[in-house]
Amino acid sequence: MEIYSLSMHEIHDLLASRRAGAVEVVSAFLGRIESVDPKVNSYISTLADAALEEARLFDNGKKDFAASPLAGVPLAIKDVICIKGTRTTCGSRILENFIPPYDGTVTTKLRDAGAIFIGKTNMDEFAMGSSTENSAFGPTRNPWDLDRVPGGSSGGSAAAVAAGLCAGSLGTDTGGSIRQPASFCGVVGLKPTYGRVSRFGLVAFASSLDQIGPITRDVEDAALLLQAIAGYDRRDSTSVDLPVPDYRAALSEPIRGLRLGIPKEYFIEGTSPEVLAAVRRAIDTCRGLGARIVDVSLPHTEYGIAAYYIVAPAEASSNLARYDGVKYGLRAGGAKDLMEMYRRSRSQGFGPEVKRRIMLGTYVLSAGYYEAYYKKASQVRNLIRRDFQEAFEKCDALLAPVAPIPAFKIGEKSDDPLQMYLSDVFTLPASLAGIPGMSVPCGFTSDNLPVGLQILGPHFSEELILRVAHQFEQATMPEIGGRKTEILSRLA
Ligand code: GLN
Repeated sequence: MEIYSLSMHEIHDLLASRRAGAVEVVSAFLGRIESVDPKVNSYISTLADAALEEARLFDNGKKDFAASPLAGVPLAIKDVICIKGTRTTCGSRILENFIPPYDGTVTTKLRDAGAIFIGKTNMDEFAMGSSTENSAFGPTRNPWDLDRVPGGSSGGSAAAVAAGLCAGSLGTDTGGSIRQPASFCGVVGLKPTYGRVSRFGLVAFASSLDQIGPITRDVEDAALLLQAIAGYDRRDSTSVDLPVPDYRAALSEPIRGLRLGIPKEYFIEGTSPEVLAAVRRAIDTCRGLGARIVDVSLPHTEYGIAAYYIVAPAEASSNLARYDGVKYGLRAGGAKDLMEMYRRSRSQGFGPEVKRRIMLGTYVLSAGYYEAYYKKASQVRNLIRRDFQEAFEKCDALLAPVAPIPAFKIGEKSDDPLQMYLSDVFTLPASLAGIPGMSVPCGFTSDNLPVGLQILGPHFSEELILRVAHQFEQATMPEIGGRKTEILSRLA
């Protein structure tokens, strides 16, 4: 077995039992990045020197593999999360040369756990997008078919895991950006409950929605990574002060007797028949594991897109006001006065999708329009939240598709923002409601493209959805696991 094909926990076992050294492991990934990433473009920056230096501390006995299950494990971090002294671009020209003087809380926690950062991953600019085509650093390609998108906005993190270019990664999810790329790339993605993970040091897109979460090769790794980053942080006032359970310990419990709800609004016309077939088979598998399948309804699902594409741009327009050419990043030259300098810096620094969102957001927040748009969207958001509450009175968790289609061709939707927005239909509602959600691989199309199963649960039910995902994964391992290994060798 090649090192780059192993999961985080398998790599940690290798290290802890001294069957491999940390430098050997880091070098295996760096070598793989050198040979494979020119095709995939999953990284914006690699951190070879710092990663090797860190690895040597383990091999010289200055750091101990036994300290934590992440000790010595190479991870990739979405380039919207600050690592002190390391360029953090958010996929944007405007932050091309931004070097944060501090670590984000998740970065500190992972560093303290002994994880080794090997690079910063590609993404849609400021996490706005569903395909990673909106990056100033070129699109990332899907390892399963290099002509297709990896999903977005955490496409770089998902593609890096799928292509064996890191052992695990962090992404962020505002409206689906962890779950959808995980689904498109055949890996596991977990968006935690809003408030579960601190966002201190995460560059803000839409503050009432943004969450950081793991993208990994298997469910056990997602549990380990969530364990390391979850918890209250006084530097993020939206983080919630609740105890963090032992996520890994919960995985092994069978799902017999659990009530799994099937929301009828997620099985609609317009969804690819191959996606529906894979998800239906997954539901049968869960039934076979003893779960009780119940029909439920989330009646306001169809309003999710309209509500999200008001709330998210509104918050983005306000968050992005700070990029004025003075405090951060790019400053355009040649301006006669301050206003012109602002205008030029923002015109040159932001890409077209970000400009579209700023204009939309500024419009819906402007005097006279606030009530009609932002306020209305917030009310719809409450209805969507209530839908989930009512559904969770009838079931413990929900099963659904992640996206209506599998990975699409690069360029196929990039000229049509509305089509791109519509493809988020199944991920936006959970984000609006703040509940946790996962994507776990559940099958393939006839073109050998992965399909993800979405598992949603009530607020702070990460233990439960991880358990459902793990039990499902174990039951389908022979078929799905085999294909995942196959793709790795095809890329070499
Ligand atoms: N695709 C959605 C958007 O473009 C969600 C992005 C995200 O979750 N960051 O806003």
